[in-house]
This record gives sequence, structure tokens and C-alpha cells, in this order.
Amino acid sequence: MPDAYRVVVIGAGPAGLGAALNIVRARHRTLLLDANRPRNAATLHSHGYPTRDGISPLELRKLGREEIERYPEAEVQNAKVTTISQEDGRFRVEAAGVRGTTDRDVTADAVVITTGLVERLPALPGIRAHYGTTLHSCMTCDGYEESGKPLALLGETDDLAEQAILLSRWSDDIVVFPHGPAVVTEAEERELGERGILVERRPVRDIVGDRGGMTGVLLADGELVERTAGFLRPIYEPALGYAAGLGLATAQDGLLLTDPEGRTSLPGVYAAGDSTVPGPQQLIVAAGAGARTAAALIRDLG
Ligand SMILES: Cc1cc2nc3c(=O)[nH]c(=O)nc-3n(C[C@H](O)[C@H](O)[C@H](O)COP(=O)(O)OP(=O)(O)OC[C@H]3O[C@@H](n4cnc5c(N)ncnc54)[C@H](O)[C@@H]3O)c2cc1C
Repeated sequence: MPDAYRVVVIGAGPAGLGAALNIVRARHRTLLLDANRPRNAATLHSHGYPTRDGISPLELRKLGREEIERYPEAEVQNAKVTTISQEDGRFRVEAAGVRGTTDRDVTADAVVITTGLVERLPALPGIRAHYGTTLHSCMTCDGYEESGKPLALLGETDDLAEQAILLSRWSDDIVVFPHGPAVVTEAEERELGERGILVERRPVRDIVGDRGGMTGVLLADGELVERTAGFLRPIYEPALGYAAGLGLATAQDGLLLTDPEGRTSLPGVYAAGDSTVPGPQQLIVAAGAGARTAAALIRDLG
């Protein structure tokens, strides 16, 4: 017989931690499962979370898990959920152990989805070496530390001009590199030019650097545009294949649609954090959404 829980929370990022903490405090027997592959592990410092500005993202998660594990109603395990299905009015959650932990096969009255996003970075060989240290995706999170530096803005989306204007809050030396299918129109290029922001239309071969971080953007023709930090526009995908059988309503980009309190289109299934519309946000926003969703779940379960 599968183990029976009142609630299973899937994903122990800030959204899952915020949800699980409040659910166990309502005395519901709760299992928190986590694949333990946080997207922000690439970075050494997280910013903008009150009382924890500058903390390592792994430390923040560790503190959150420890708080939850103090409650006898809580169980926290590293395992990657492979399927959620509905059986006899309950949810069945199956998960594969990660790095030696046991596989799980459990049931629950309610499920909270907080598995964040997967991000696809531009396909350049050197990008991962600098991502999270001198190459970032969130200006609000890391713009301050890169203030005043010669910055690159690279991406495959069509909002680069808008992003470049936002980035000029932190530096007045910006070069925009539209990559792949990205479009910066001539009108946008003129507007950026008036603000002293350059657009480099030659194709990019790689991001190059040394132990201290990135040193520049190498163009396909061999020229190096010197830049000591930069920002990317990744493509985000929610990777919710494990919940496909539930037929949850999603937006066009695959992100989960919920009501303002985190209820998905299927009663008993809740969601919070980056895997819900509008997508990538910040740690504090995800943690708050998790707590708000827990409040709705607690009311609904009675
Ligand atoms: C490089 C980088 C730097 C950032 N820096 C900052 C910053 O400084 N300040 C800030 O406020 N925000 C920052 N962010 C954004 C912030 O990390 C996210 O907004 C936040 O983590 C989203 O929280 P979440 O709980 O929704 O998802 P996540 O934190 O992504 O957590 C999702 C969890 O679910 C797990 N999971 C995924 N699939 C499964 C599955 N099938 N089964 C079980 N578990 C699963 C994952 O392993 C992960 O642990 C940064 C993001 C990145 C990528």
C-alpha cells in the first residue's frame, strides 16, 4: 500500500518551503519532495530577500528545510516526482530517488506544485562558466553588484530593447547583442542610440573570460567586444510533464494558471512560484505565493 499523506508538496524552492511550512503548522501530515536541482544554484549570492540579502541560495534552502523538519507532521525527502495521477478521489504521487534516496509511491488529499522552471540559455559554449557569477538573468537581483561596469545584454527574445532601457538604470555602458531569432528594430536601435546604448548586430560566437569572470563577447568574425559582466534573456520552460495526466489549465507558454490564491483548474491541486503565470519572479515573491497558497489549501481541506 502506498504511504498516505494529507498533502504532498512537490519542489522545495522558496515557493514549496513557504507552502510546506504553513501547511505543517496547520497540523496536516505533509511530505515535501524535491529533486534538489535548484535553478539558482549557479549563483553564490542571492539578493533582495529581507533579512537574508546576500545569502547563498543553497543556505537559504537549507534553513527553510530545517525549519520544516522540526515539525513532527513534516517529512522532507530528495526525490524527483515522475507522475501524479488521480485514484479513488485521492492523488497518487510517484517519485524516483535521487543520489541514493529511495523511490516513493504515496497518496494525498491535496498536492502543491512548486517545481519552478527550466531555463534554456543561448547555445554558446562558454556561457555556463560565467552564468550566475558575472552573467545574470535578473537585473533586480544582480544589477546592483554590476553597477557602472561595461555590460552586455544578450538574448533570443524580442524584448531586448525594453530590457536594455531597464538595464541602463545600473550602467551607462551597455552593448546589446540580439542573438538567434531576437529582433531589435531600427526604430528601437535609434531610441537606444539616443540613450548611448549600442546594438551589435554581428553574430556572437561565445562569451569569453578568465578566473575573475567574463572579459568579453567574442563575435563570429573574431573581434572581441570587451565586457566585464552581462545579462541574458533565457527561454523559460515549466517542465511539468510529470503532471500531464491531470490536464491542468496552462497559459500558452505552459505555465500553470491558478486563481489568485493558488488553486489550479483541478480541485485539490494547488501551485505557486515560478511554474505559475506570470513566470520567473524572485525568491521573496515565490515564498509569499507559497504561503498564500497554503492558506487557501488549509481553508479548503477544513
Ligand atoms: C542564476 C539565478 C540567480 C537568481 N538570483 C536571485 C536573487 O538574487 N534574488 C531573488 O530574489 N531571486 C533570484 N533568482 C530567482 C529565484 O531563484 C526564483 O524566482 C525562485 O527560486 C523561484 O522559486 P520556486 O520555488 O518557484 O522555484 P525553484 O526555486 O526553482 O525551486 C523548484 C524546486 O523544484 C524542484 N523540482 C523540479 N522538478 C521536480 C520534480 N519533478 N520533482 C521534485 N522536485 C522538482 C527543483 O529541483 C527545485 O529545487 C535567481 C534565479 C536564477 C536562475
